[in-house]
Amino acid sequence: MIKIALGTSNPHKLEEINAMLKDIHPDSVEFVLVQGVFDPVENGTTFEENSYIKAAEAAKIMGIPALADDTGLCVDALDGRPGLHSARYAPDQQSKISKLLGEMQNVPLEKRNAHFVCTMTLVAPDGTIMHRETGRIDGFIDTKPSGEHGFGYDPLFFIPDLNKTMADMTMEEKNTLSHRARALLPMVEWIKKTQV
Ligand code: IMP
Repeated sequence: MIKIALGTSNPHKLEEINAMLKDIHPDSVEFVLVQGVFDPVENGTTFEENSYIKAAEAAKIMGIPALADDTGLCVDALDGRPGLHSARYAPDQQSKISKLLGEMQNVPLEKRNAHFVCTMTLVAPDGTIMHRETGRIDGFIDTKPSGEHGFGYDPLFFIPDLNKTMADMTMEEKNTLSHRARALLPMVEWIKKTQV
């Protein structure tokens, strides 16, 4: 069993990762939360840098390879915002949604493209980058929220091929196609193949 530390202080991320991995050889890689104080300064200017900062800190504390992600919603009409600042764009989910709808109110349907991006970096205890994967899903910012599932910007993120928002999907469905799944699954395949 390969043991990897997760560079997060959010225990829900561990649950989410385990749920995404349950169908692909759940016994070959074990993810563990960082023990003790974990307070990295996320002052990077890209998703890559911030995921590296979190993973490097976790790997240093735990003395084993560590994985961390950095994630955000990038809206074309807003020049990629909220992007790196997606978590801090507004204080809670409801205000994130109303602020985004407000900023998008004069943007016509055909210019409402957006994507979620998730970059995951695996770092060794000495700070070396071992591997990186980026997952992305493209969609549109809807004109009103829809759906009860998910979190964050999900109720506004409409996927035309599926004719629903990310919040209209069950967690199981979202986990087959989300930006996070599209980064995590190849990352875990790489970890298994490489036997880090
Ligand atoms: P984090 O890096 O995973 O903490 O994500 C940063 C922020 O991006 C979150 O606080 C959410 O606002 C937003 N976000 C990330 N992933 C998702 C998602 O799957 N759905 C909706 N919002 C998301």
